[in-house]
Amino acid sequence: MCLFCDIIDSKIPSTKVLENDKVYCFNDINPAAPVHVLIVPKKHFDDIRDIAKADDGAEYLKAIAEAADEIAAMKGLDKGFRVINNCGEDGGQTVMHVHFHLLGGVKLSEKIL
Ligand code: AMP
Ligand code: ZN
Repeated sequence: MCLFCDIIDSKIPSTKVLENDKVYCFNDINPAAPVHVLIVPKKHFDDIRDIAKADDGAEYLKAIAEAADEIAAMKGLDKGFRVINNCGEDGGQTVMHVHFHLLGGVKLSEKIL
């Protein structure tokens, strides 16, 4: 069982922001910023290392970048935003279906690099 596969399959409810053949994007249930959208590939990859090894990984990475661009335009994030991927245990990943957090709508101050 994978939480995000179940969300993509509508077995678990979510607030959809954008959907196409490659990605499903929805509001994070515990938002860390005024805009906090999860960009999730419809194909299950555990994490970004899994995308790197897949023949169709580049297609999904492109789709993720396009989704970030489209959501930012939709939400009026003209002054910028942040995209975060937590990978694996040390990276703080809690849902083992790769996803990218798109955060914005405020001046993001906490930078670690
Ligand atoms: P990460 O810690 O990077 O794996 O991110 C997992 C994210 O999924 C967290 O920010 C959670 O708030 C979010 N999350 C968990 N369950 C749900 C859900 N049912 N609907 C929306 N977001 C969720
Ligand atoms: Zn999954």
